[in-house]
Amino acid sequence: MTPMTPIHDAVALEAVRKRLRIEPWDLKRLRNAFYKKHQTAEESLEHLSVEQRDAFRSDVAFHSLRLHSRRDSEIDGATKLLFRTVGGHLIESVILRIASGRTSLCVSSQVGCAVRCRFCATGQMGTALDLTSEQILDQVVQANHLLRGEGRSIRNVVFMGMGEPLLNESAVYAALDVLLSPQCFDLSPAKVLVSTVGIPDAMVRCAERFPRLRMALSLHSARQAGRESLIPLARRYPLESLRRAMMQMTNIQRQPLMVEYLLLQGLNDGDQDMAELINCLRGIPVHFNLIPYNAIAADAGLIGSGAERRRQFADALSEAGFPVTIRYSLGNDIAAACGQLALREKTPS
Ligand code: SF4
Repeated sequence: MTPMTPIHDAVALEAVRKRLRIEPWDLKRLRNAFYKKHQTAEESLEHLSVEQRDAFRSDVAFHSLRLHSRRDSEIDGATKLLFRTVGGHLIESVILRIASGRTSLCVSSQVGCAVRCRFCATGQMGTALDLTSEQILDQVVQANHLLRGEGRSIRNVVFMGMGEPLLNESAVYAALDVLLSPQCFDLSPAKVLVSTVGIPDAMVRCAERFPRLRMALSLHSARQAGRESLIPLARRYPLESLRRAMMQMTNIQRQPLMVEYLLLQGLNDGDQDMAELINCLRGIPVHFNLIPYNAIAADAGLIGSGAERRRQFADALSEAGFPVTIRYSLGNDIAAACGQLALREKTPS
């Protein structure tokens, strides 16, 4: 059986168009309906003649994931979506409805994650499988379909779900091309954020390919041993190589890099940690995002720092001249932190 053409593959789609003798403007209308008006596959197909519709439907795949379940927060505007891949794996996306009216989607780039960060539920799931660009994009398509009835659509996409995006570079870059393409989702690069635990060469490659894209580095400690205890992959990348990559990418992008710092009691929140953090990042244009710890189901023996300590850290960074925000986490009641729900579904209680 010939594999179906993914709707997001513009080159292959053009070949289908020619074979089925579809006029270019009819295909354009179909794609506009699908990407910009968030119409379903069947609604979008109405832009073709009845005969073309059947042939297009059997040649082109509009979806690569099946929605398995959804959970809506009762305390804020978060919705967690759990999708099943053709291979039977579960992946998560989280819709974040911000009070300002903005709607963001946190997408997954892998099933599980080989980085195995101590503080992250996805890291406890075991080895990673790369998602395809279609599977990454289908999370956005299906979230938009769900949001249509609310008069909302996804305007911000953050790669902070399951997986390390820069360990799946080709699929993530292909997905970014479609997210940013004026013919497809047409998102502004300023509204798309890729977050990494720090793979220096890939950080620079990503900045070179997408100079206006927002990028974030999960640093979590400016001491090599401290980083390694939280992020096992950090053993491969000394802090100095990360510093160099940060300087290179901020030079390329000409915008500050977001540095994420999860505050953990007794592990990275001491005065010495603060001093080393300031010292390590001095001279690099960064914006700090301090993150409260969202305890995960599997006990990692970690305790989040209290609100007072977070404020002291924020004040010290701010006095050192760095812009700082403290992240407010949505969806605590629906296990919205990366990997929590998929882990729960996999683990019998
Ligand atoms: S925090 Fe990110 S990189 Fe670390 S284990 Fe979780 S998904 Fe992987």
